[in-house]
Amino acid sequence: MSPLWTRRQVLTQLGIAAAAVHTLDPHELCCAVPAHAETADKDLFELKKVGDGVYAAIAAPRFKVNCNAAVILTDDGVIVVDSHSKPSAARALYGEIQGITKKPVKKVINTHFHWDHWQGNGAYAAASPGVEIVASERTRENLTRPDAGVGGIPYIEKQIAAMPAEIDKLKDDIRKTSDPKLKANLESNLQQAESFYQELKQMKPALPTRTVSTTVTLAEQGREIRLHVLGRAHTDGDLFIYMPRERVVATGDAVIDWMPFLNDGFPEDWVHTLSNLEKLDFDQMIPGHGDVKPKAHLAFFRGYFVELIESVKKAAAEGASLDEMKKTIGDRLAPKYEAAMSRYPIGQYRDRVGLNVEMVYLKVVKKS
Ligand SMILES: [Zn+2]
Ligand SMILES: [Zn+2]
Repeated sequence: MSPLWTRRQVLTQLGIAAAAVHTLDPHELCCAVPAHAETADKDLFELKKVGDGVYAAIAAPRFKVNCNAAVILTDDGVIVVDSHSKPSAARALYGEIQGITKKPVKKVINTHFHWDHWQGNGAYAAASPGVEIVASERTRENLTRPDAGVGGIPYIEKQIAAMPAEIDKLKDDIRKTSDPKLKANLESNLQQAESFYQELKQMKPALPTRTVSTTVTLAEQGREIRLHVLGRAHTDGDLFIYMPRERVVATGDAVIDWMPFLNDGFPEDWVHTLSNLEKLDFDQMIPGHGDVKPKAHLAFFRGYFVELIESVKKAAAEGASLDEMKKTIGDRLAPKYEAAMSRYPIGQYRDRVGLNVEMVYLKVVKKS
């Protein structure tokens, strides 16, 4: 089958009827955003050079979040790591890439299956029919599994089903507010939500055409790119993209400069996977969200998981209720983590720490 499937083709193949898709889980705030973000499309990404021919495309905040991308130039084309939440964002980044090189995109690599990292794949597949889309084997499976979490083809249907209510709520909020600044932000969000809804309905998702299940080295016109499968972390299919000569790694959401999102993750495995990542020899990380970080951020980010897991286990053993744990652990870890993990309008410490506590309680203590 063509790499560029229509949603209908895939849904038919999977036997998933749109009508059977449930409403959204309120926890999937991976990427919902408070009112803000008036960035024009041309300013969606800031390209930062992190090595010779290697760039981090740092995403500006948007109502529907976009992930960062890594952009790697080779002698015969461009490799892009992750494709954001929508084709228009991928096209916007491609426009910026063309300011650096006129070569075509020859490979897209998806770090994991979440909606904000792969839904733009179709833009690259439409622009270059020969484009190769690479992901881990597990990510490829997750992209068509109805129950995988906040990403994949079935999840596109869930987003489509949820958008009318989301749009109605924004309209309602606009009517209720008298603050001109807030109103302007909400109106911007409404406009973004309406165009996102249209893009979702027309989306032609492009699934990976090549999968890897273990570490693979790509020799790309003299540039060495290693794809590492290092264990479960943010999802069960995380792929790390490592360039040994440039000493850069792209991590997807296994490392971010926000509070981590654990709903589809594996907290204890995550600690080990980050230790495996640390063994690689590099200086800079292009995280899934937030700014480029030095390798030292890895120990800090892992430390949060270690302390969170220990705290939840201890509180559970002492008989604390989930609500008590959310409050006490959130307060106890705040001096060390709150400021560093609240640097952006989204993904802040207080927005997510309670949900992180709950996820660790469910996944590590209750093992449900
Ligand atoms: Zn993400
Ligand atoms: Zn993610």
